[in-house]
Amino acid sequence: MELDKATLHLSFGVVAATMLVLFYFVVFRTTRSPYSGWWCATLTFYLIGAGVRILDDALQHFWALPVSNMLIVLGASSAWAAARSLNGAASRWWQLTAAAALIGIASLVDHRTTDVSAGGLVFLAMMPVISGLTARELWRMDHRRTGTRTSLAIAATVISAYHAARCAAFIIDGTGGDATSRYFGYEVTSIFGLVFLVVVSFSMSMLSTEQTTKELQIRATQDGLTGMLNRAEFLRLATRATRPMGHGDANAALILADLDNFKEINDTHGHQAGDRVLQEFAQVAKRTVRSSDLVGRYGGEEFMLLLPHTGLDRAEQVTVEISSMLSALDQKVGFRMPTVSYGLTSLAPGASLEAAIASADVALYRAKTLGRDRAVRD
Ligand code: GH3
Ligand code: MG
Ligand code: MG
Repeated sequence: MELDKATLHLSFGVVAATMLVLFYFVVFRTTRSPYSGWWCATLTFYLIGAGVRILDDALQHFWALPVSNMLIVLGASSAWAAARSLNGAASRWWQLTAAAALIGIASLVDHRTTDVSAGGLVFLAMMPVISGLTARELWRMDHRRTGTRTSLAIAATVISAYHAARCAAFIIDGTGGDATSRYFGYEVTSIFGLVFLVVVSFSMSMLSTEQTTKELQIRATQDGLTGMLNRAEFLRLATRATRPMGHGDANAALILADLDNFKEINDTHGHQAGDRVLQEFAQVAKRTVRSSDLVGRYGGEEFMLLLPHTGLDRAEQVTVEISSMLSALDQKVGFRMPTVSYGLTSLAPGASLEAAIASADVALYRAKTLGRDRAVRD
């Protein structure tokens, strides 16, 4: 089957343009993330590259093929930059333009006589290198919990393998060779390119949705100042942890903590110092407990800890550790850290969390009236 070259290049251009518009408005404008910016650059370079190819078909200008090759390599380099930015790495301008510059120089040295001029060969050699680097970058990402990253990495690997095979075929078989024109001619390359544009654009927009969802999830479950669980999330997880059928086959300890005379810190050292104290408390509390324990900010300068499989003696020990670690921070923060009062209660499997919080609150109140800086059991 013979496919018309100009039609294929035109289709490629139309798809690249559509992808660019959709991707720019749907993904880039909403996220402004570096990788989506780089992917817009990739699409733009491919789009102009395809445009120049169409010119070349029509006019056979000697400059059109090298320029189009340079644009396509710039597009591939931008895709590499997109992959690098996903790993938090910045790209320098020479990394992006080196391959295109090499093609330009090779094309100047050797005037085009066939499709595979010197510039053309450098182009064919550069594409597997750049797409290989992109694939390597994508495989280095954290692939846990998401199939999108893996699918991007697989796409980049397939592309670099295709480019490598294409380059090898040109070297071994020449432009006019059977294998070259059948498997790596403009038909296959254009159609392959189209599929690749659609797959990668789709995966990239999936990735941005995943990132947004993750950010929203963090904002919905964490306290913004301390990074602790917020009240709603603490209650949700604590309810689950104390269910009789869950981990709650032994008593859990619930601790309510309230910083003593915290208002004075704000009044004496300012609100920022108060915030700092809250953050330090969060750090200390998280460091003191096990990773399976729950630590949440109940509100203001009040915190809650749920320690599954823990008796009140151990819970009281935890409060002593937290208080002594806090008081050791005086020098670091530059003023006296507040002491803390604690209310402790034990929770039988399946017992009401609300009732437990209420009795820990009563114990906490007693700790305050008894002179603060202590733990009291209900
Ligand atoms: P007590 O020992 O009886 O608990 O006294 P207290 O001063 O700690 O308690 P009180 O309830 O009178 O004051 C709590 C203060 O905590 C009042 C409020 O301005 C402050 N606060 C609440 N949330 C924040 C916050 O996010 N940042 C800062 N800096 N202060 C906060
Ligand atoms: Mg309070
Ligand atoms: Mg207080």
